[in-house]
Amino acid sequence: MLNEKVAALCNEQINKEFYSAYLYLDIANYYADQGLDGFANWYTIQAQEERDHAMLFLQYLQNNGEKVTLEAIAKPDKEFSCHRCALEVGYEHEQYVTSLINTIYEAAYAVKDFRTMQFLDWFVKEQGEEEKNADDMLKKYDLYGSDPKGLYSLNSELAARVYTAPSLTL
Ligand code: MG
Repeated sequence: MLNEKVAALCNEQINKEFYSAYLYLDIANYYADQGLDGFANWYTIQAQEERDHAMLFLQYLQNNGEKVTLEAIAKPDKEFSCHRCALEVGYEHEQYVTSLINTIYEAAYAVKDFRTMQFLDWFVKEQGEEEKNADDMLKKYDLYGSDPKGLYSLNSELAARVYTAPSLTL
């Protein structure tokens, strides 16, 4: 069994990861509506990754004999008023998720829960990648997005993204 606070935070993280999937589907819908199918593809795959993250937390709790409680997933409430705005939402959201992972890590560290820290190490690294990917999207958009030909090329590049399962298995 895990420490009560650590287990509760891991259980909450299941919900947060599913919310992330919801938010990215919402962003994908926005871009699909704008005719940017490549951007939509990129965020649809991002949503799949977030579902994977949720399932990893769920599996981790079950592997440790903890009961999983699924709560309602909040409605995505962000407004996307421009192509760049949706990218900004994605970047800010990843920074927020990093803070959530760090909070769980702090709780595990406080009670010398080395097993949970080891589990979370993958997520610490993953968040570094997620923040970089979101920041790269903004940089690419700023370089190429304001020109129609550049936007077309960037959209084509993002259309080529394919889903890969997470490298962490439990
Ligand atoms: Mg995630």
